[in-house]
Amino acid sequence: MGIKRGCALCGHMCRADRYAGERGRCGAGTRIGFSAALIHPGEEPPLSGRDENGGSGTIFFSRCNLSCVFCQNWQISQANQNCQDIDVDTLAEAMLSLAGRGAHNINLVSPTPYVPEIALAISKARNRGLKLPMVYNTGGYDSMASLAVMDGLVDVYLPDAKIGLPPGGDENEPDSISMRLFGAGDYVRHNRKALLEMKRQVGHLTLDGRGLAAKGLIVRHLVLPDNIARTDALLPWLRDNLGADLHLSLMAQYHPANRIQVGHNPEFRDYPGLGRPLSIREYEKWTDLAWGLGLRNSYVQGLEAAMRMRPDFTKPDVFD
Ligand code: SF4
Repeated sequence: MGIKRGCALCGHMCRADRYAGERGRCGAGTRIGFSAALIHPGEEPPLSGRDENGGSGTIFFSRCNLSCVFCQNWQISQANQNCQDIDVDTLAEAMLSLAGRGAHNINLVSPTPYVPEIALAISKARNRGLKLPMVYNTGGYDSMASLAVMDGLVDVYLPDAKIGLPPGGDENEPDSISMRLFGAGDYVRHNRKALLEMKRQVGHLTLDGRGLAAKGLIVRHLVLPDNIARTDALLPWLRDNLGADLHLSLMAQYHPANRIQVGHNPEFRDYPGLGRPLSIREYEKWTDLAWGLGLRNSYVQGLEAAMRMRPDFTKPDVFD
Protein backbone atom coordinates (compact mmCIF):
# COMPACT_ATOMS: atom_id res chain seq x y z
CA MET A 1 0.00 0.00 0.00
CA GLY A 2 2.77 2.40 -0.97
CA ILE A 3 0.15 4.92 -1.91
CA LYS A 4 0.61 6.60 1.46
CA ARG A 5 4.33 7.11 1.00
CA GLY A 6 3.87 10.63 -0.13
CA CYS A 7 0.09 10.71 0.11
CA ALA A 8 -1.80 11.47 -3.08
CA LEU A 9 -5.18 10.05 -2.09
CA CYS A 10 -7.04 13.28 -2.72
CA GLY A 11 -6.82 16.30 -4.99
CA HIS A 12 -4.55 18.13 -2.56
CA MET A 13 -1.79 15.58 -3.28
CA CYS A 14 0.09 17.00 -0.32
CA ARG A 15 2.63 14.13 -0.45
CA ALA A 16 2.86 13.82 3.33
CA ASP A 17 4.91 10.76 4.28
CA ARG A 18 2.30 9.47 6.68
CA TYR A 19 4.02 6.14 7.35
CA ALA A 20 7.05 8.11 8.51
CA GLY A 21 4.94 9.97 11.05
CA GLU A 22 3.99 13.05 9.08
CA ARG A 23 0.41 14.23 9.08
CA GLY A 24 -1.22 15.30 5.84
CA ARG A 25 -2.90 18.57 5.10
CA CYS A 26 -6.13 16.88 6.25
CA GLY A 27 -4.49 15.90 9.56
CA ALA A 28 -4.52 12.15 8.83
CA GLY A 29 -1.53 10.11 9.99
CA THR A 30 -0.77 6.40 10.18
CA ARG A 31 -3.97 5.25 11.87
CA ILE A 32 -7.64 5.48 10.94
CA GLY A 33 -9.51 8.47 12.39
CA PHE A 34 -12.83 7.05 13.56
CA SER A 35 -15.72 8.97 15.09
CA ALA A 36 -18.93 6.95 15.15
CA ALA A 37 -20.72 3.90 13.74
CA LEU A 38 -24.51 4.04 13.75
CA ILE A 39 -27.66 3.01 11.93
CA HIS A 40 -28.65 6.15 9.99
CA PRO A 41 -32.38 6.48 9.19
CA GLY A 42 -32.05 9.76 7.24
CA GLU A 43 -30.04 8.99 4.11
CA GLU A 44 -31.64 8.74 0.66
CA PRO A 45 -34.43 6.10 0.50
CA PRO A 46 -32.34 3.46 -1.35
CA LEU A 47 -29.72 3.70 1.40
CA SER A 48 -31.76 4.01 4.59
CA GLY A 49 -34.80 2.10 3.33
CA ARG A 50 -38.34 2.85 4.35
CA ASP A 51 -38.82 0.37 7.18
CA GLU A 52 -38.59 1.24 10.87
CA ASN A 53 -35.96 -1.31 11.79
CA GLY A 54 -33.28 -0.85 9.17
CA GLY A 55 -31.14 2.03 8.05
CA SER A 56 -27.77 2.74 6.54
CA GLY A 57 -24.87 1.34 8.56
CA THR A 58 -22.88 4.54 8.69
CA ILE A 59 -19.24 4.86 9.73
CA PHE A 60 -18.03 8.42 10.19
CA PHE A 61 -14.32 9.06 9.75
CA SER A 62 -12.56 12.11 11.10
CA ARG A 63 -10.08 14.51 9.44
CA CYS A 64 -11.84 15.16 6.15
CA ASN A 65 -9.66 16.19 3.22
CA LEU A 66 -11.96 19.16 2.53
CA SER A 67 -12.62 22.01 4.95
CA CYS A 68 -16.08 23.33 4.10
CA VAL A 69 -16.76 26.47 6.11
CA PHE A 70 -20.39 25.41 6.70
CA CYS A 71 -19.76 21.68 7.30
CA GLN A 72 -22.50 20.22 9.53
CA ASN A 73 -20.09 17.46 10.63
CA TRP A 74 -17.37 19.97 11.58
CA GLN A 75 -16.95 18.50 15.08
CA ILE A 76 -15.39 15.37 13.60
CA SER A 77 -14.35 16.43 10.10
CA GLN A 78 -12.35 19.45 11.23
CA ALA A 79 -12.20 19.70 15.04
CA ASN A 80 -11.52 15.98 15.60
CA GLN A 81 -13.75 15.92 18.70
CA ASN A 82 -14.58 12.59 20.34
CA CYS A 83 -12.52 10.72 17.74
CA GLN A 84 -10.31 7.69 18.18
CA ASP A 85 -7.43 6.32 16.14
CA ILE A 86 -8.21 2.72 15.26
CA ASP A 87 -6.64 -0.08 13.22
CA VAL A 88 -7.88 -2.15 10.28
CA ASP A 89 -9.19 -5.02 12.43
CA THR A 90 -11.27 -2.66 14.56
CA LEU A 91 -12.75 -1.10 11.43
CA ALA A 92 -13.65 -4.53 10.02
CA GLU A 93 -15.27 -5.36 13.36
CA ALA A 94 -17.34 -2.15 13.20
CA MET A 95 -18.63 -3.15 9.75
CA LEU A 96 -19.64 -6.59 10.99
CA SER A 97 -21.30 -5.13 14.05
CA LEU A 98 -23.45 -2.80 11.92
CA ALA A 99 -24.45 -5.75 9.75
CA GLY A 100 -25.47 -7.64 12.88
CA ARG A 101 -27.68 -4.69 13.90
CA GLY A 102 -29.70 -4.87 10.67
CA ALA A 103 -27.94 -2.29 8.48
CA HIS A 104 -28.89 -2.30 4.80
CA ASN A 105 -25.37 -1.37 3.72
CA ILE A 106 -22.04 -0.10 5.06
CA ASN A 107 -21.83 3.64 4.43
CA LEU A 108 -18.29 5.03 4.70
CA VAL A 109 -18.46 8.80 5.32
CA SER A 110 -15.39 10.90 4.37
CA PRO A 111 -13.30 7.79 3.62
CA THR A 112 -10.70 9.33 1.30
CA PRO A 113 -7.71 9.73 3.66
CA TYR A 114 -8.03 6.08 4.75
CA VAL A 115 -8.55 4.31 1.43
CA PRO A 116 -5.75 1.71 1.81
CA GLU A 117 -6.89 0.72 5.31
CA ILE A 118 -10.56 0.67 4.27
CA ALA A 119 -9.71 -1.66 1.38
CA LEU A 120 -8.05 -4.06 3.82
CA ALA A 121 -10.93 -3.82 6.29
CA ILE A 122 -13.49 -4.57 3.57
CA SER A 123 -11.54 -7.66 2.55
CA LYS A 124 -11.30 -8.85 6.14
CA ALA A 125 -15.00 -8.27 6.77
CA ARG A 126 -15.96 -10.02 3.51
CA ASN A 127 -13.80 -13.00 4.51
CA ARG A 128 -15.79 -13.15 7.72
CA GLY A 129 -19.09 -13.26 5.85
CA LEU A 130 -20.09 -9.61 5.30
CA LYS A 131 -22.36 -9.45 2.26
CA LEU A 132 -23.82 -5.93 2.45
CA PRO A 133 -23.23 -3.36 -0.31
CA MET A 134 -20.34 -1.01 0.41
CA VAL A 135 -21.17 2.69 0.01
CA TYR A 136 -18.33 5.20 -0.57
CA ASN A 137 -19.73 8.52 0.73
CA THR A 138 -17.25 11.22 -0.23
CA GLY A 139 -16.89 14.95 -0.73
CA GLY A 140 -15.89 14.13 -4.30
CA TYR A 141 -12.30 15.38 -4.16
CA ASP A 142 -10.79 11.93 -4.64
CA SER A 143 -7.70 11.22 -6.73
CA MET A 144 -7.61 8.63 -9.48
CA ALA A 145 -5.12 6.67 -7.35
CA SER A 146 -7.56 6.29 -4.48
CA LEU A 147 -10.43 5.33 -6.79
CA ALA A 148 -8.22 2.70 -8.44
CA VAL A 149 -7.75 1.09 -5.02
CA MET A 150 -11.51 1.04 -4.44
CA ASP A 151 -12.35 -0.36 -7.90
CA GLY A 152 -14.23 -3.63 -7.35
CA LEU A 153 -14.60 -3.06 -3.60
CA VAL A 154 -17.22 -0.30 -3.71
CA ASP A 155 -20.77 -1.12 -4.74
CA VAL A 156 -22.34 2.31 -4.47
CA TYR A 157 -20.50 5.58 -4.96
CA LEU A 158 -22.12 8.52 -3.17
CA PRO A 159 -20.01 11.57 -4.04
CA ASP A 160 -20.77 15.24 -3.66
CA ALA A 161 -20.72 17.60 -6.60
CA LYS A 162 -20.36 20.73 -4.52
CA ILE A 163 -20.17 23.46 -7.14
CA GLY A 164 -20.27 24.22 -10.85
CA LEU A 165 -18.00 26.47 -12.86
CA PRO A 166 -18.75 30.19 -13.34
CA PRO A 167 -19.92 31.31 -16.80
CA GLY A 168 -17.00 30.90 -19.21
CA GLY A 169 -14.96 29.33 -16.41
CA ASP A 170 -12.03 26.98 -17.02
CA GLU A 171 -11.71 23.98 -14.71
CA ASN A 172 -7.92 24.29 -14.96
CA GLU A 173 -7.99 27.76 -13.44
CA PRO A 174 -8.24 28.15 -9.64
CA ASP A 175 -11.70 29.11 -8.45
CA SER A 176 -11.79 31.57 -5.58
CA ILE A 177 -15.19 30.45 -4.23
CA SER A 178 -14.14 26.78 -4.15
CA MET A 179 -10.97 27.81 -2.35
CA ARG A 180 -12.76 29.97 0.15
CA LEU A 181 -15.71 27.69 0.91
CA PHE A 182 -14.15 24.21 0.58
CA GLY A 183 -10.41 24.80 0.85
CA ALA A 184 -9.79 23.47 -2.69
CA GLY A 185 -9.50 25.94 -5.58
CA ASP A 186 -9.24 23.07 -8.07
CA TYR A 187 -12.26 21.22 -6.68
CA VAL A 188 -14.21 21.15 -9.96
CA ARG A 189 -11.35 19.67 -11.98
CA HIS A 190 -10.82 16.79 -9.56
CA ASN A 191 -14.52 16.36 -8.93
CA ARG A 192 -15.35 15.97 -12.60
CA LYS A 193 -12.66 13.33 -13.12
CA ALA A 194 -13.75 11.48 -10.00
CA LEU A 195 -17.43 11.44 -10.98
CA LEU A 196 -16.63 10.10 -14.45
CA GLU A 197 -14.41 7.36 -12.99
CA MET A 198 -17.03 6.37 -10.42
CA LYS A 199 -19.65 6.11 -13.17
CA ARG A 200 -17.25 3.99 -15.23
CA GLN A 201 -16.75 1.62 -12.31
CA VAL A 202 -20.33 1.09 -11.15
CA GLY A 203 -22.71 2.62 -13.72
CA HIS A 204 -26.17 3.97 -12.92
CA LEU A 205 -27.88 2.94 -9.72
CA THR A 206 -29.65 -0.39 -9.59
CA LEU A 207 -31.97 -1.47 -6.78
CA ASP A 208 -32.67 -4.84 -5.24
CA GLY A 209 -36.13 -6.35 -4.79
CA ARG A 210 -36.68 -4.27 -1.63
CA GLY A 211 -35.87 -0.98 -3.37
CA LEU A 212 -32.46 -0.76 -1.71
CA ALA A 213 -29.30 0.33 -3.50
CA ALA A 214 -27.42 -2.67 -4.89
CA LYS A 215 -24.86 -1.02 -7.16
CA GLY A 216 -24.23 2.27 -8.92
CA LEU A 217 -23.79 6.00 -8.55
CA ILE A 218 -25.78 8.60 -6.61
CA VAL A 219 -24.47 12.18 -6.89
CA ARG A 220 -25.31 14.61 -4.10
CA HIS A 221 -25.55 18.35 -4.52
CA LEU A 222 -26.17 20.56 -1.50
CA VAL A 223 -28.07 23.56 -2.86
CA LEU A 224 -26.76 26.80 -1.37
CA PRO A 225 -28.74 30.04 -1.02
CA ASP A 226 -28.35 32.68 -3.74
CA ASN A 227 -27.01 30.06 -6.19
CA ILE A 228 -23.59 30.32 -4.50
CA ALA A 229 -22.87 26.70 -5.56
CA ARG A 230 -23.67 27.60 -9.19
CA THR A 231 -26.38 24.99 -9.37
CA ASP A 232 -27.47 26.51 -12.69
CA ALA A 233 -24.16 25.45 -14.30
CA LEU A 234 -23.66 22.20 -12.43
CA LEU A 235 -26.92 20.43 -13.28
CA PRO A 236 -26.52 20.68 -17.08
CA TRP A 237 -22.94 19.40 -16.77
CA LEU A 238 -24.11 16.41 -14.75
CA ARG A 239 -26.82 15.58 -17.28
CA ASP A 240 -24.51 16.02 -20.29
CA ASN A 241 -21.62 14.01 -18.85
CA LEU A 242 -23.22 11.40 -16.60
CA GLY A 243 -26.51 10.97 -18.45
CA ALA A 244 -30.14 11.77 -17.78
CA ASP A 245 -30.52 8.44 -15.95
CA LEU A 246 -28.19 9.68 -13.22
CA HIS A 247 -29.56 9.35 -9.69
CA LEU A 248 -29.19 12.86 -8.30
CA SER A 249 -29.84 13.84 -4.70
CA LEU A 250 -30.67 17.55 -4.54
CA MET A 251 -30.20 18.41 -0.89
CA ALA A 252 -32.16 21.20 0.77
CA GLN A 253 -30.67 20.82 4.25
CA TYR A 254 -28.24 23.75 4.16
CA HIS A 255 -28.15 25.74 7.37
CA PRO A 256 -25.50 28.04 8.82
CA ALA A 257 -23.02 25.90 10.77
CA ASN A 258 -19.33 25.66 11.63
CA ARG A 259 -17.71 29.00 10.69
CA ILE A 260 -20.95 30.44 9.32
CA GLN A 261 -23.19 32.23 11.78
CA VAL A 262 -26.92 32.77 11.45
CA GLY A 263 -27.70 36.10 9.81
CA HIS A 264 -24.56 38.10 10.44
CA ASN A 265 -21.38 36.77 8.83
CA PRO A 266 -18.62 39.32 9.22
CA GLU A 267 -16.05 36.98 7.70
CA PHE A 268 -18.34 36.08 4.79
CA ARG A 269 -20.25 39.31 4.31
CA ASP A 270 -19.71 39.01 0.55
CA TYR A 271 -21.93 35.86 0.63
CA PRO A 272 -24.86 37.02 2.76
CA GLY A 273 -26.99 34.08 1.62
CA LEU A 274 -24.82 31.71 3.66
CA GLY A 275 -26.34 33.19 6.80
CA ARG A 276 -29.79 31.71 6.18
CA PRO A 277 -31.43 28.42 5.13
CA LEU A 278 -32.81 27.98 1.61
CA SER A 279 -36.18 29.42 0.68
CA ILE A 280 -38.78 27.09 -0.79
CA ARG A 281 -38.91 29.21 -3.92
CA GLU A 282 -35.21 28.93 -4.70
CA TYR A 283 -35.16 25.20 -3.95
CA GLU A 284 -38.09 24.61 -6.28
CA LYS A 285 -36.30 26.55 -8.98
CA TRP A 286 -33.50 23.97 -8.94
CA THR A 287 -35.74 20.92 -8.65
CA ASP A 288 -37.66 22.29 -11.66
CA LEU A 289 -34.40 22.71 -13.55
CA ALA A 290 -33.35 19.13 -12.80
CA TRP A 291 -36.73 17.88 -13.98
CA GLY A 292 -36.59 20.06 -17.10
CA LEU A 293 -33.15 18.69 -17.96
CA GLY A 294 -34.58 15.17 -17.85
CA LEU A 295 -32.91 14.25 -14.56
CA ARG A 296 -36.00 12.36 -13.46
CA ASN A 297 -34.18 10.05 -11.01
CA SER A 298 -33.79 12.88 -8.54
CA TYR A 299 -34.25 12.65 -4.78
CA VAL A 300 -35.57 15.79 -3.12
CA GLN A 301 -35.83 16.88 0.51
CA GLY A 302 -38.36 18.92 2.42
CA LEU A 303 -36.91 22.16 3.77
CA GLU A 304 -37.49 20.89 7.30
CA ALA A 305 -34.38 18.76 6.68
CA ALA A 306 -32.40 21.90 7.58
CA MET A 307 -33.75 21.53 11.11
CA ARG A 308 -33.65 17.73 11.30
CA MET A 309 -30.17 17.08 9.92
CA ARG A 310 -28.12 18.73 12.64
CA PRO A 311 -25.82 16.09 14.07
CA ASP A 312 -24.07 16.52 17.40
CA PHE A 313 -21.17 14.12 17.63
CA THR A 314 -20.62 14.88 21.30
CA LYS A 315 -23.90 13.14 22.16
CA PRO A 316 -24.45 9.37 22.29
CA ASP A 317 -27.42 9.75 19.91
CA VAL A 318 -25.85 11.87 17.17
CA PHE A 319 -29.07 12.80 15.34
CA ASP A 320 -31.35 13.13 18.36
S1 SF4 B 1 -5.87 12.59 1.90
FE1 SF4 B 1 -4.90 14.01 3.37
S2 SF4 B 1 -2.76 13.36 3.45
FE2 SF4 B 1 -3.63 12.46 1.58
S3 SF4 B 1 -3.24 13.92 -0.11
FE3 SF4 B 1 -5.25 14.43 0.74
S4 SF4 B 1 -4.83 16.01 2.31
FE4 SF4 B 1 -2.87 14.99 1.89
